[in-house]
Amino acid sequence: MTEPTKTMSNCLPPLPLGPSPKRASRQSEVVWESARITVGGNAPVRVQSMTNTDTEDALATAIQVKELARAGSEMVRITVNTPAAAAAVPYIREQLDKMGVHVPLIGDFHYNGHTLLKEHPECARTLSKYRINPGNVGKGAKRDPQFAQMIEAACEYRKPIRIGVNWGSLDQDLLASIMDANAALPSPKSAQEVMIEALIQSALQSAEKAEELGMDPNQITLSCKVSNVQDLVAVYRDLARRCDYPLHLGLTEAGMGSKGIVASTAALAILLQEGIGDTIRISLTPDPGAPRENEVIVGQEILQTMGLRNFTPMVIACPGCGRTTSTTFQELAANIQSYLRQQMPVWKKTHPGVEEMNVAVMGCIVNGPGESKHANIGISLPGTGETPAAPVFVDGVKVKTLRGESIAQDFQVIVEEYVKTRYGSKQA
Ligand code: SF4
Repeated sequence: MTEPTKTMSNCLPPLPLGPSPKRASRQSEVVWESARITVGGNAPVRVQSMTNTDTEDALATAIQVKELARAGSEMVRITVNTPAAAAAVPYIREQLDKMGVHVPLIGDFHYNGHTLLKEHPECARTLSKYRINPGNVGKGAKRDPQFAQMIEAACEYRKPIRIGVNWGSLDQDLLASIMDANAALPSPKSAQEVMIEALIQSALQSAEKAEELGMDPNQITLSCKVSNVQDLVAVYRDLARRCDYPLHLGLTEAGMGSKGIVASTAALAILLQEGIGDTIRISLTPDPGAPRENEVIVGQEILQTMGLRNFTPMVIACPGCGRTTSTTFQELAANIQSYLRQQMPVWKKTHPGVEEMNVAVMGCIVNGPGESKHANIGISLPGTGETPAAPVFVDGVKVKTLRGESIAQDFQVIVEEYVKTRYGSKQA
């Protein structure tokens, strides 16, 4: 009897399904009143964002923080760069609390953070976390005492910190010393490897100093941001191996539009798949006039499409092709997606679990009924030449066929009814 021929595929070991378990890390808490956001440990990967308003304009900043929080940002960072900005922080907090927005605020400090935290104790008290950039705390002999002053403030007010290294503001003294040591090696490392090592050492040495100064190690998060995808992956893989602090992931200066989204997704998806990353921020340059909340939506969509968290019902839509000569299904998909997103601030309180719902909006009969049956609710619109009827599927079963001008409204009513019956109804 002849042996069955072995094919390439049955010789290979099976690939693991799904992401690797989350890397073991410490867990810290970022707190404001009723909001307690855990970062690291077994907590889900958190989405955070940063305002681009002038912090001195307290009202504009409070409004943008509210919008970011409403979009789902679980912490919001604001620049604290001047005495007037530091003085505005308690007022921003007060406005947010009056609006019922208890999202924790993180103060972003560079150059003068030690002075601002000392001279504005209400700012120091009101912020829920401080971001410290070791490359921007001071030069030469001033560096260590100014860093120490910031850590003393964090200890006094019991605030967690992020030691946030950025290759655009890397500690030049540290870089120079690592370069000198590298040059003396028999086989010196490349400039890229030296830069990566300098970023990591800057973060780890700063964390070590913070602990020596009395900082609780459970209150330290680290980040080492660069703007190149491959460098970011290399930096974080190494950093994750060398410490157990929670890690804040982000591709710095990701850029505008699709480039910023694609680059951020490419970098973060690799790391998240490997279980690396405890909180993410997507650094998109907004198109003029575009809402700042887009960076929150992109962060959520990265996590949700990877199956790591659910934030909002997802719309599955086909790309359309020559079988669809109208834009009806595109408009319906866009309208339903924005409707679902708008409902979420209320629905997440009144209809828990709704964020796991999938809605399919398909352009024709080829894949429409099949894809719709896989979703919680699906609609297959008529393609060119098909009978002008749109079958609707609920939990895999065809329940209705919509016709006429009001298909979009009728479909929305079906979605609303489904949410109410399937996900219960609690008081907001
Ligand atoms: S479902 Fe129909 S309209 Fe949509 S891409 Fe496929 S064939 Fe084209």
